[in-house]
Amino acid sequence: MDQPREDSEGRGGRDGREEARAEARLTAARLSGEGVVALAVTWVDNAGIARVKGVPLRRLPEAAVEGVGMSPVFDVFLVDDATTTSRYLGGPDGDLRVFPVLDRAVPLAAQPGWAFAPGERFRQDGLPHPACQRRFAARMVEQAAERGISFRAAFETEWIVQRAEPAPGGDPYPTDGPAYGLHRITDCSDYLRDVLLALEAQGLTVQQIHPEYSPGQFEVSVAAKDPVGAADDAVLVRATIRGVSARHGLRASFAPAFEPDGVGNGGHLHLSAWREGRNLLAGEAPAGEGEAFLAGVLRELPALLALGAPSPASYLRLVPSRWAGCFHCWGVENREAALRLIQGTDEQANAEVKCFDQAANPYLAVGGVIAAGLAGLDAKWVLPEPVQGDPVLLPPERRPARLPTSPDQTLTAFRASTILRDALGDVLFEAVAAVRAAENAAYGALPPQAVVAATRWRY
Ligand code: GLU
Ligand code: MG
Repeated sequence: MDQPREDSEGRGGRDGREEARAEARLTAARLSGEGVVALAVTWVDNAGIARVKGVPLRRLPEAAVEGVGMSPVFDVFLVDDATTTSRYLGGPDGDLRVFPVLDRAVPLAAQPGWAFAPGERFRQDGLPHPACQRRFAARMVEQAAERGISFRAAFETEWIVQRAEPAPGGDPYPTDGPAYGLHRITDCSDYLRDVLLALEAQGLTVQQIHPEYSPGQFEVSVAAKDPVGAADDAVLVRATIRGVSARHGLRASFAPAFEPDGVGNGGHLHLSAWREGRNLLAGEAPAGEGEAFLAGVLRELPALLALGAPSPASYLRLVPSRWAGCFHCWGVENREAALRLIQGTDEQANAEVKCFDQAANPYLAVGGVIAAGLAGLDAKWVLPEPVQGDPVLLPPERRPARLPTSPDQTLTAFRASTILRDALGDVLFEAVAAVRAAENAAYGALPPQAVVAATRWRY
């Protein structure tokens, strides 16, 4: 069972409290049996950073009923922990309660004694906090459900790993194997085995784990699930890789750009939309509702980058011929298109939003994509022709436009998006815009090397 969804009446009814207490006792007993002594109640801020409150396990029933106190100022934190202000949120005043989502609480395999649980945020009076990103994603799923649509989603995780303490003058990478090379698995077999084992011990189903293009780069993908669950998984996967890396004397970077000119880390989102047990994207060519959904996502991509590729560092990654999807187009199995359609049966077909990276808050990213898709669905939009081949090699008259090439262009598109403002609600929309504006002001004009240095180890 998920957290009670009480958007209209809020939390705190007497029955609800007793139910939460009883569920928390059961969860605490389950976790305690697995050696857990503390719970990391985690939310992701608008800068894309997972923040946390740790709670001793014996306090779980209390935390499940009363929540854990936290300041609303976290909604305007930047990647460097500086704060800004927004129209509705910012400053030292006020308090919120973050509630652990008990059915997602899971022992962390690489951090014995600790369990992870995503958090949802409420006001002190029990009403939902309007800027809770996880509840935003859940609301978008509910709005789709009202139209009879459901989703399967998954985020891919790419990361670059280096030795935590490289020998002076030595190779900082634990492998010098070639891109996609077996050599890299051979060099790092214990490490990658432990990543895989830890993820599976935490209930995640690993689909693939493989070396990627850049030095020291790897990728893991996990099975699709409901969109909010997929966003939870993205947070958990990253925390797990970080934890396993530390145990192997390694350090993992999930930043969009690790070197100013290198292939970066993507955070591609895979999504399929379903009605009555049928995948709307399955079959030969997208048509009907599936096409309209994709057309909505495609149209909104420049604004969606504020949620999915939000950092000034994201624009060092979003360049042609690096499979980052920097062109504003879609294509069938085209890894240079921002929106790649993977065709096939109900089980296989899905859309991959390739332009996204892991500076994104995954709840905002998936919620924003659903909002855009639903707008397309409601308006019955149609797709333009798909693009084949690397757009950069096409003659200029046939070449699709680039997506925004700077975070300021993205912010302008975001501010103009009534679809995203309506979906996020003013409070969350303004907080996101303020964080984007402040990070752009702090880092947008710096040389690439400085942008990379400021973000390399942050996400
Ligand atoms: N590393 C690429 C990126 O920045 C993606 C490579 C791939 O298609 O997996 O998105
Ligand atoms: Mg990849």
